[in-house]
Amino acid sequence: MVLAELGGRITRALQQMSNVTIIDEKALNECLNEITRALLQSDVSFPLVREMQSNIKKIVNLEELAAGHNKRRIIEQAIFSELCKMLDPGKPAFAPKKAKPSVVMFVGLQGAGKTTTCTKYAYYHQKKGYKPALVCADTFRAGAFDQLKQNATKARIPFYGSYTESDPVKIAVEGVDRFKKENCDLIIVDTSGRHKQEATLFEEMRQVAEATKPDLVIFVMDSSIGQAAFDQAQAFKQSVAVGAVIITKMDGHAKGGGALSAVAATKSPVIFIGTGEHMDEFEVFDVKPFVSRLLG
Ligand code: GDP
Repeated sequence: MVLAELGGRITRALQQMSNVTIIDEKALNECLNEITRALLQSDVSFPLVREMQSNIKKIVNLEELAAGHNKRRIIEQAIFSELCKMLDPGKPAFAPKKAKPSVVMFVGLQGAGKTTTCTKYAYYHQKKGYKPALVCADTFRAGAFDQLKQNATKARIPFYGSYTESDPVKIAVEGVDRFKKENCDLIIVDTSGRHKQEATLFEEMRQVAEATKPDLVIFVMDSSIGQAAFDQAQAFKQSVAVGAVIITKMDGHAKGGGALSAVAATKSPVIFIGTGEHMDEFEVFDVKPFVSRLLG
């Protein structure tokens, strides 16, 4: 279910409830059940949905509400604040500072959009006056370096990589050292992905992280992966210190629930979303406007 559809269904469930003369336990349960179904079909993981439902019931105590209160409004507000809470882990992600070298490492499965997103992230910060640089430590996928090189050249961002070196740790360290010497303040390390979560991938990620000591590890997740989002995000978090999430491919048939699940699994905020293949199809992620849009 795409985001707009989810919002529409939640809004309809609330409207249906307001058609009922008396909002009692039964009407509230029917409304919450419909919202639960909508969230599950949008790939929000089941434990999260259950938690949200019980939280709303705690907030909305129908018996205690004085007559005349707008109960529908109160329920609506509870849903809004629960969705915001699910998307806000309570601490902001590390923010790079200008003129002070920061290392940001990107991790994620192959095809998630890591390489594309690295350039988008670099380009975004370059426009804000940072001096970014890109390091291709993906020695697994043939063509990864060429892709990064092409993107970086288009955006006029310095890059580092190798056609012959097969040790990703060595390339990552060399690249980071070089760009620190060149006074770049945002050194972005693209790492290898795999088609699925594999022990070798996680071991490689750990080694690159240990050698480059990133200030921030960004987990890149494809929004269309469905109910697998929670487990996948959690598996990455268990291997490296993920500090932020970027959700890609939010254009097209994107499901919104993955974002909520990834935040819950990594306890890290979503910082950007990818909305297309081009460099500037990249948006800062803000919780409240996102949820407002979601609820229409
Ligand atoms: P990687 O294997 O994780 O490095 O993935 P890539 O960066 O090579 O991206 C895989 C595919 O997804 C490419 O065809 C990208 O153009 C595409 N892609 C990446 N981000 C987005 C996005 O936000 N929207 C859309 N529609 N496509 C994207």
